[in-house]
Amino acid sequence: MNLIRHVPVRMCIGCGNRRTKGELIRFGRDASRSVSFDARRHTGRSFYLCPDPTCLNIVRKKMRRGGFLDGVDFEVLKSRMDREMENREEVE
Ligand SMILES: [Zn+2]
Repeated sequence: MNLIRHVPVRMCIGCGNRRTKGELIRFGRDASRSVSFDARRHTGRSFYLCPDPTCLNIVRKKMRRGGFLDGVDFEVLKSRMDREMENREEVE
C-alpha cells in the first residue's frame, strides 16, 4: 500500500502545526464577522483548530492582540470545541 498520497492539510491557528483537515475543527466566519459553524453556509474565511484545549488557550492570548480574530467571541469557540471533543469521544 502506498501511504504517501496527497491529503488536504490545514494549519491550526493555535499551535501552528499542520494536520489533515479531518483532525482539525473547522470554524467559519461570515460577513458579519461572527463565527458560524455551518461550513456550507459561511462565506468568509475559515480557520482551523486542533481539538486540544492547549490550542484554544493560545488562541485566547492571540485574540487579545486583535487582528484576524478581532470580534470573535472566545466563549463561542470554547463551546464549539467542547461539543466537538464530546462527539469525538463518542465515535472512538
Ligand atoms: Zn493546534
